[in-house]
Amino acid sequence: MSSLRFNAVEEAFKKKALVVESPVGLISDYFGQYVFNRTTMSKYLSVDTLKAVQDAVDNGVSLERGIADHVAAGMKKWAMEKGATHYSHWFQPLTEGTAEKHDSFIEYVGMPGGGVMESFSGKLLAQQEPDASSFPNGGIRSTFEARGYTAWDPSSPAFVMDDTLVIPTIFISYTGESLDFKAPLLKSINAIDKAATAVCKYFDTNVKRVTCYLGWEQEFFLVDESLFATRPDLALTGRTLIGHESAKNQQLEDHYFGSVPSRVVSYMRDLEFVAYKYGIPIKTRHNEVAPNQFELAPLYGEANLSNDQNLLVMSLMKKVARRHGFRLLLHEKPFAGVNGSGKHNNWSLGTNTGIGLLTPGKTPLEDLQFITFLVNTLMAVYKHNGLLKASIMTANNSHRLGANEAPPTIVSAFLGSHISSVLDKIENSTSEEVIKMDDKKFLKLGIPHIPEVLLDNTDRNRTSPFAFTGNRFEFRAVGSSANCATSLIVINSIVATQLNEFKKDVDGRIAKGVKKENAIFEVLQEYIKLSKPIRFDGNGYSEEWRQEAVKRGLNSETCVPEIYKEYTKPETIEMFKSVGVLSEKELYARNEVKWDTYIKKIQIEARVLGDLCLNHVIPIVTKYQSLLLDNVVKMQAIFLEEEAVELSSMNKELIKEISQRVCHIKKNVDAMVEARKIANRKEDEYEKAMVYHNQVLPFFDKIRYDVDKLELIVDNQMWTLPKYRELLFIR
Ligand code: ADP
Ligand code: MG
Repeated sequence: MSSLRFNAVEEAFKKKALVVESPVGLISDYFGQYVFNRTTMSKYLSVDTLKAVQDAVDNGVSLERGIADHVAAGMKKWAMEKGATHYSHWFQPLTEGTAEKHDSFIEYVGMPGGGVMESFSGKLLAQQEPDASSFPNGGIRSTFEARGYTAWDPSSPAFVMDDTLVIPTIFISYTGESLDFKAPLLKSINAIDKAATAVCKYFDTNVKRVTCYLGWEQEFFLVDESLFATRPDLALTGRTLIGHESAKNQQLEDHYFGSVPSRVVSYMRDLEFVAYKYGIPIKTRHNEVAPNQFELAPLYGEANLSNDQNLLVMSLMKKVARRHGFRLLLHEKPFAGVNGSGKHNNWSLGTNTGIGLLTPGKTPLEDLQFITFLVNTLMAVYKHNGLLKASIMTANNSHRLGANEAPPTIVSAFLGSHISSVLDKIENSTSEEVIKMDDKKFLKLGIPHIPEVLLDNTDRNRTSPFAFTGNRFEFRAVGSSANCATSLIVINSIVATQLNEFKKDVDGRIAKGVKKENAIFEVLQEYIKLSKPIRFDGNGYSEEWRQEAVKRGLNSETCVPEIYKEYTKPETIEMFKSVGVLSEKELYARNEVKWDTYIKKIQIEARVLGDLCLNHVIPIVTKYQSLLLDNVVKMQAIFLEEEAVELSSMNKELIKEISQRVCHIKKNVDAMVEARKIANRKEDEYEKAMVYHNQVLPFFDKIRYDVDKLELIVDNQMWTLPKYRELLFIR
């Protein structure tokens, strides 16, 4: 075996599970110990300051500078006790992951050159100006206004990581446009709060606030770091660009919910211990479908905080993996032929009175409220199914889309037979049949009561991208490396817009003298009819469904750069504007960033693939071919001519096959380079992205085909790159 690969494989197989320090005590003892949460705040802030912060968090009241000074002082004291010497604004630029810039607490006591002291003011807590001209902004921050600000988000608590006090912030331009994911997410949370609260008033005037909840499920792969180091494609692009399928992968379905390998158990325990200290309530861990694939999921929480926790956990996962001799792969499709990784976004709404708006109710009135929110969500997803798909589309995630695993290329919604039958009943009944009052003037619904137990026995449809699962919708198309906010911004905005429209429609009917409950019923009935095409309970992966969906007018676009145009359709611009989440300028700018990211991803992959072919594959196979040639020539020397011809026929065929495949590879790599040149000459980002999609990307599969065939015939000893069978099975 080639010595590099041989050493890596040997090293990987020798590794034992790391013995991790067992956490002492109960999880609740150390949960959130690095977080400046309410309990901690109450020890470090005065009663008035604490009250002001809570008011800011709960009711969006802005904080005065004086109060910010008090908060900063308390935070600094606490953070320094935890060993912090620095502070950092932590933000979510339009690239992947998070960004931070660390400053130490020191200031001169008096004149420059004198002694220093630790200081941290409300001003530094509230706002910072990172030298961030290199973060993508889609042209919003041209150089004359090159400033971008980070501003404190008090609704997500600060935490101490290593030696730094980390402050979650939004990132906006000098002129106020969002340059990140958090700012529009917060706006969308606000929009849905307003719209949903107004609708809730039909049912309960005590409702003052509606909270958006998120529960993410994070899928990921682990690969041994020695093997990772010898795969330039994994190291540079996060996925394998070549590699023949392993004879055994997931066909036996023996990995899913199987026992977790001990090295991985040790990793998970370590990770959970760290995550708990950061207040991330990890609840579930298990194997996933593909070998080396795993999942973890927390208790759900308020969407903004839960999303920050997801971003934090992704970086913790990476760090802890290194400690265990692993590399974490968050790429959506690291290996061809086995499942890729997603991140299910479980989304729901709940009132300050403790009612889940997507949870079947206990009373007929609550049931009607539940149906109201369910139907409005369906209607929103129906109207904007293309946009919802655009929100999860990336170069990476496109490898999962439409493959025979979640998610399909069409966004549809699954409700299960029980809820479907309730909606059918409403559709086919009259207002008088359904909306009835008992003797005490309490609402009685002429439809079957929806039992709460539904949660546990919903007929699960794993092929649906947007599935109702008892008390929430589960958006399953999100990519594993994505910021959940990209899809939450869309879901919240479209549902908020829809709820506003619903309110207008119902109020219109009430104004004409229709009774409130009847008005609600009539509007819902209309929506149920209109949104029917989005409902689909069958196999989302089947070809028949794709054809049917096209007939139903659902979006079937699969080209990544093209689908982004959903964001700038007139109706989308109007929708985002109406709820104050994103402006037209921001939408255009953000698309520029998306196209640019797409281009760069494909460009890097194309370069790496070219290098692998020219520096690894072709030299190795040529060497092997020379051995074969040598063998054929020597055969001729020792055997009589006819015998030699017969005995070396197999090797001759191999020699020929190698030559042909090498020619194909070389030709395709050259043509791919030419296609890249054509693409790079395009000025317009969209056009450039389209050339990358239409003319560069198609070479990937063509090239890989020949390379993978060669992997099968070349001497195993000579092949330098770890094979799938080695990468995919942790011992
Ligand atoms: P499954 O794999 O069957 O979908 P999991 O238990 O792995 O289920 O994940 C369920 C996820 O849904 C968890 O993150 C959980 O916190 C979240 N969740 C449960 N109820 C709600 C809800 N009402 N709103 C939002 N998220 C929820
Ligand atoms: Mg799930």
